[in-house]
Amino acid sequence: MREIKILVAGAGASGMMAAIRAAGLGGDVTLLEKTKSAGNKLLLSGKGRCNLTNTEDLDRFLKRFSKNGDFLRDAFKKLFNRQLMDFFEQRGLGLKVERQMRVFPQSDRSSGVLSVLKKELERTGVRVVYGAEVSGAGIEKGKVSCVKLSGGKIILCDRLILACGGASYSFTGSDGSGMEIARSLGHRIVPLRPGLVALKTKQGYPRRMEGLTLRNIRLKFSSGNTQILSETGEMVFTSSGISGPLVMTLSGRVIDMFEKNGKACVEIDLKPALTCQQLEARLLREFKAGAKKGVRNVLKTLLPLRMASLFTEIIALDPMKKCAQIKQEERERIISFLKAFRMDISGSAPVEEGMVTRGGVSLKEINPRTMESRLVKGLYLCGEMIDIDADTGGFNLQAAFSTGYLAGESAVLSA
Ligand SMILES: Cc1cc2nc3c(=O)[nH]c(=O)nc-3n(C[C@H](O)[C@H](O)[C@H](O)COP(=O)(O)OP(=O)(O)OC[C@H]3O[C@@H](n4cnc5c(N)ncnc54)[C@H](O)[C@@H]3O)c2cc1C
Repeated sequence: MREIKILVAGAGASGMMAAIRAAGLGGDVTLLEKTKSAGNKLLLSGKGRCNLTNTEDLDRFLKRFSKNGDFLRDAFKKLFNRQLMDFFEQRGLGLKVERQMRVFPQSDRSSGVLSVLKKELERTGVRVVYGAEVSGAGIEKGKVSCVKLSGGKIILCDRLILACGGASYSFTGSDGSGMEIARSLGHRIVPLRPGLVALKTKQGYPRRMEGLTLRNIRLKFSSGNTQILSETGEMVFTSSGISGPLVMTLSGRVIDMFEKNGKACVEIDLKPALTCQQLEARLLREFKAGAKKGVRNVLKTLLPLRMASLFTEIIALDPMKKCAQIKQEERERIISFLKAFRMDISGSAPVEEGMVTRGGVSLKEINPRTMESRLVKGLYLCGEMIDIDADTGGFNLQAAFSTGYLAGESAVLSA
């Protein structure tokens, strides 16, 4: 029997896994990658350490997706976190589990993950063609029949797996072109928005504190009656607003809230471990001990220096005023700043700067049991280009690997 000829577009996490699975099951697989190398984004992931998955149980894992997590149940039945870890460990890559159940290579190098995938592509006989940009696909009788490359070349195929990634960090190759191909084949694209991204503020204070990291703080985003509370953690000021783990994690929901209501604000609780009463008692103690010192000097014990200077300016307090002279009303102003330093959100960085792309090919048009398009037979879609995105912690890569694996398997096994 003739081997099924499968083309995979995109050599990222999802495309490589799709190609490996399809070739492992006997498919005749060619992987087309538009750049000159595979796994460009994978190499950047986890700050170069690649947080490839997370050991959370299935239900909690699914909750880390901004929506649509349930769509992944079938893909995770085929390849979930344990199986993915086994895949790499059995091929010689030692893994470790860090805080918040994040899984990394023991070597702390994403290149180790890529190296396993490349060896596996070779072992399973996948042909990898670099510099091959897919620009479209041909359909005959409702079924994929060929792909078109940018240079005009046409390659015949029985199945096409689109694994072209999202639309951020376009220098890695994933620039949203895969979604355009899907659109040209009739698919609806849920509007692209940035996910895991920095937020901008109306006020200019962040610029003056650019690069300053605040640890053990808590954030409250609100708009109208809606509130989004963060856990205790870390954030950083940027030239135009706020970023860091707490901000990135909640950014998608905050952007949705901002777009819905046309406004949103953030309050930074700089002392989440203390109630207002405890904070007042602490201030009274500090002010008593440093009665002859200027208030800014004492505030330095509670805040980073750069912030203490700005702080007195924002609440219109003379920084040199002696602590002994601070009135109750001024102390209350200090406390409300420390518990709720408020800024207005004015938007976010663009999609290009998001760690993930939200939106993409509509899931309504993809069969979750196979990843096959419901519109075009023989067309499969996987990875970040479909309307799936998650929190940081290894969830996005697991989704890319799992949907790729399922797409590769289905492409070979479907009739
Ligand atoms: C800085 C950064 C850090 C991250 N860290 C993590 C992390 O630690 N853990 C985690 O879970 N997630 C992380 N992510 C997200 C994760 O990397 C992505 O979700 C994942 O790589 C998506 O895989 P993919 O295969 O769908 O797409 P990609 O990895 O983007 O691969 C798509 C591939 O398709 C190619 N391509 C595009 N268009 C075409 C075309 N027309 N023809 C041929 N080829 C094409 C591209 O060149 C690219 O090689 C991070 C993202 C970023 C930006």
